[in-house]
This record gives sequence, C-alpha cells and structure tokens, in this order.
Amino acid sequence: MQPPGTSISAPDPTPMAAPMHVLRGIAVSPGIAVGPIVVLDTRGIRLPPRKITAEAVKRELERLDHGLEVAGREAEEAEGEARTRLGPQYADILAAHARMIGDITLRAAARARVEHEQVSAEHAIIEVLEAHATRLERLRDSHLAARAADVRDIEARILGQLIGQRPKSFQDELPTPALVLAQDLSPCETAGLDPNRVLGFATEAGGRASHTAIVAAALEIPAVVGLGKFLDIARQCRMAVIDGDEGLVILDPDLPTQVRYRAAAVERSARFHVLSQQANLPAETLDSTRVKLWGNIEFTAEIDACVKLGAEGVGLFRTEFLFLNAKPPPSEDQQFQAYAAVIRALRGRPIVIRTLDLGADKLGRYRESAYVESNPFLGLRSLRLSLRDPGLFRPQLRALLRASTLGDVRILFPLLTTLAELRAARAIVRDVAAELVAEGHAVRENLPVGIMVEVPAAALMADHLAKEVDFFSIGTNDLIQYTLAVDRTNETVAELYSAADPSVLRLIAMVVEAARVHGIEVTVCGKMGGEPLYTMLLLGLGLRQLSMPPHQLPEVRRVIRGVRIETARAVAAEALRLDTAQAVTALLESALRQALPDTPEPAAPAIR
Ligand code: PEP
Ligand code: MG
Repeated sequence: MQPPGTSISAPDPTPMAAPMHVLRGIAVSPGIAVGPIVVLDTRGIRLPPRKITAEAVKRELERLDHGLEVAGREAEEAEGEARTRLGPQYADILAAHARMIGDITLRAAARARVEHEQVSAEHAIIEVLEAHATRLERLRDSHLAARAADVRDIEARILGQLIGQRPKSFQDELPTPALVLAQDLSPCETAGLDPNRVLGFATEAGGRASHTAIVAAALEIPAVVGLGKFLDIARQCRMAVIDGDEGLVILDPDLPTQVRYRAAAVERSARFHVLSQQANLPAETLDSTRVKLWGNIEFTAEIDACVKLGAEGVGLFRTEFLFLNAKPPPSEDQQFQAYAAVIRALRGRPIVIRTLDLGADKLGRYRESAYVESNPFLGLRSLRLSLRDPGLFRPQLRALLRASTLGDVRILFPLLTTLAELRAARAIVRDVAAELVAEGHAVRENLPVGIMVEVPAAALMADHLAKEVDFFSIGTNDLIQYTLAVDRTNETVAELYSAADPSVLRLIAMVVEAARVHGIEVTVCGKMGGEPLYTMLLLGLGLRQLSMPPHQLPEVRRVIRGVRIETARAVAAEALRLDTAQAVTALLESALRQALPDTPEPAAPAIR
C-alpha cells in the first residue's frame, strides 16, 4: 500500500467481492487492458509522498532552498516582462509575488516542517501557504481576502519548481505494471509513458481527438478519456478493465467479465497478427482502384511499425513532439539528426514532415510560462506561432531543408487559414533555402510544399489555395473541431464532435474537388483517415491516399480490399444527401457490415 499523501493511491487489496462499476467514456486508443489500478493524485500536480526519511532531510532542505530561489527569480522575470508588455499595474502584483517567495519567514516556516516533522519540500510549502491563504480568506476585508488567490499562485509557482526538479515521473513509482486512472494527462505526460509499466489509462477529462489521445495510440496504450468524475469510486477498487475499442472502463470486474476480456484481448491480438501478415498485399479495391496508405508518426521509433505494416511512406510527421518535453528546444542540428534518422529509415519512401504545430493543447515546456490565452485553440498556435517566432521557425526550416536531400521529403504547413499566411511561409522557406545555399549546403530544388486543410476557411478557399501548393492534407481532427465549434479535448461537448457530420463531409468533398480540378494530391491524415468505419465514405468521396497511425493500417487495408469503388461512391453520395451525423453513422455502419460481414463485434456485447 502506498503511504498516505503519495501521488499514487493503489487501493487496499481486499478479498471481499466488490460491486462492478461500468463506466462509459470516449474510446481514444484501441486495445484492451486488464490489471491492477493506480489512481493519480488529482491536485493537477504529481505530489511526492508527504513523509520523508531522516536521511533525506538534508537533501530536501537543499531542494526547498533551490526551489524558492528559482521560483523567486522566475517571478522577477515575469514582473519585468509584465512591466513592458502589460504596464505597472500587473507588474506590481508580480513584484509582490517575488517578494513573498523571497520572504524569510516563509522559508523559515517551510524549513521547520521539513526538519522537525520530516515532511517533503512540496508538502511543507503547501501546508505553510494553505494555512496563510485560509487565514486571509476568513478576514472580513474583501481586498485582503482576495489576496488568498495570490498566495495560491505563489504556491503553484514554487511547487512547479520543486516538482520540476524531481527526475522521477509517477510511473517510476508504480509498484507493478498497472492501469493508470487520472483526472487528466497532458500530451507531454502521455508522451513520457512507458507502455511496459502503464498498461492502459483512463481519465475523467479529455475529448475524442485530443493530442493526449493521439499520443496514446502512437504508444499503443489502450485509453479511454472523458469519463467524468469517477476517481472517488476508483479509489475504493483494486482492478479494472480498460476497453479502448468501446470506450468502457469496468472497475472491479467480476470473474466472468475478466475472463471474457482477457479472451477478447487474446483474440484481438491474434486477429491483428493475421491481418498484419497481409501488409504486403496491395491496398486495392475489388475492382482494382489503388489506394496509397501512409503512416502518421509522432516519434521516430514509430517508423518501424510503419514499414512493417506496409505503409508506403509517412504521410504526417508531427514534429512538435520533438519539442514537447524539451527544454531548451532542440537545436537546428538536433532536429536535423532526428529528421535524417527518419528519412534514412524509410529508405526512399516518401515522408511528409509537418512544421511545428505547437500551441493550444501542445505547449512545449519551455513555453508554458510565456502563454496565457483564454481561447488557445483560436489563438497563437501552429503556423501562426511559427510565423510570429522566427527563432522557432527558421531553425526548423533549416534543419528540414538540409535533410531534404536525403530522401523524398515534402513539407507541410499546419492550420493554414489564409493565402497570405501561405505566401508568408513560402517566402521564409525560399529565404532559408537561399541562406543555406550561400553557406554551401545542398538543398533540394522544388521541394513539394503542402498545407493541412483543417480550418473551414481553408476548405472554403481550397480552389484558390490549390493553385499555390503541391498537395493538400486534410486534418479532420481540427476540421471537425472548427466546423462544429466543439473543442476536441472537452468531454462535456464530446457528443457533438463527429466526423460523420454532414457539414464536415461537404467540406471534405469541396477540398477533394478543388484538388482534382487543379491536379494536386490530397490525403486525409486526421483520425478519420484511419477509422475503418469511414474508409468506404472517403474512397467514395474521391480520396486515394489515407494516412493513419501505423496500427490502423491492417484494418483499413482489409476494408479497401473488401469493397468495390462503385459501392463506395454510392455510399458517399447517399451520405452527402443525409442531414444528421447519426443518420450518416447508421448508413456507414450498415454499409460496412454488408460489405464485410466478418467485421468483429465489440469485445463485451453483454455490457453494451
Ligand atoms: C488534424 O487536425 O487532423 C491533424 C492531423 O493534426 P493534429 O491532430 O496534430 O492537430
Ligand atoms: Mg490539426
């Protein structure tokens, strides 16, 4: 059992049969995991255990002093920045924060707790500052009471420093490989998960196409998100099933359920094995229409799976994942090495390298303090950020252009919204290329440049954009979010997020038509492109290239090989006539069952 106050609370093993809780969330990363659970602390931060040993006191005092110093400096820097950007009013607040962090009484009180009560630095800070905030809140003076919020800001700043110093992540503290249950996991945290220790995860928050979901799928960790509040119940339980296909979490499953799920997991991997043996068969419909299948990667290690599972190339390399856990950001040379490794591993197969898509839910650590946006998905993200920050964009382009001579490389700009952005981005590419040539570097001429179509504005302007780019890549994850005005990470509106919405289908059809008229290639690289349910529809809409997480390739190939293009066209035409996402989904489900009756049933029909 974990000591009280730890970041992880594994419930007590108890021999009594507990009632089974079946929870429904959003399936975001396929697969089935059964095992013991650990519940992460839900303060939003990963707290270490409260108590420390006598031997650890000296080190803990050093950590405390160091944390206070760095947090104080950070507040002073923030003050300086606020003074120039926002004016004295805000800067004065931050100056007061810096003074308070440096206050000798705070340090003395926290040190006393570490020394005399053997409490970790984080808990010492929480206990001292929480007591102070509570005292302020009780005061009748509303001005003073409002200062409690300042105290909590200071607390968060110091804790951020202290926790940041800890080399270990929560998973290093897992007693055995386990299922992790948490309020939320950021894409950064998810990227750091070790699939050998974390068998699956489930979170209260999160939406269908969040980047946390995308990373989980890349790591092949079954995951369900958007379950709503359930951690209080989970803390009373010992084990769980995470069904990442159906979006179910079953807490304390009874024996027959466990048996059924374990059998389903075995069956699932056998089926995957059989299908992946067919990776070399052409992705061709029954009536000989050829489709190009590509892989999406976030990490260089995924190249192996792409190659093994028969991807003809990489249709989307999300380069921002090189940045998410890096502080400072990777240098031009480090990026060059990463791109070169991937290009070489592909041995001549094409690769589409997307420039940085940072911002919104993908904040690199080094940027966290720089940003506070109230609508980050509508804010300074992606290509907008790259255009605004040449210190970020130019080194990436230099690395990319240098690597472009090593293979069949294409560049992709994310979240493009206007022609003006496209022209600005292309001008920078030209400038960087000229700079490299002047320095004596080889640079590939006529490097293909494409754009992600993931904002309705770009889809609506596709006929114009098509004249100035070499290819389109439809990013349905964002396209759905912006078309339907549904935050892709928000579980409370997840019901409204659907690739089957007729408005989304119309936009896709427009983009495909613009590409056809102007003779450029078009791919779908959002989640929709890798979901067998949508394969017929996309083929019928005219798509001949799909890019997806490598592990989706076998199932999508199976669907392509099992349908006629005429049938797919009829399904797409019918879908475009329908007026709701529900009607489109029902049509696609029935068309898929009809064309491929051996499509597997959900793992646990009894529970559905
Ligand atoms: C998309 O939006 O569909 C896409 C592929 O990009 P990302 O998921 O990285 O935002
Ligand atoms: Mg996107």
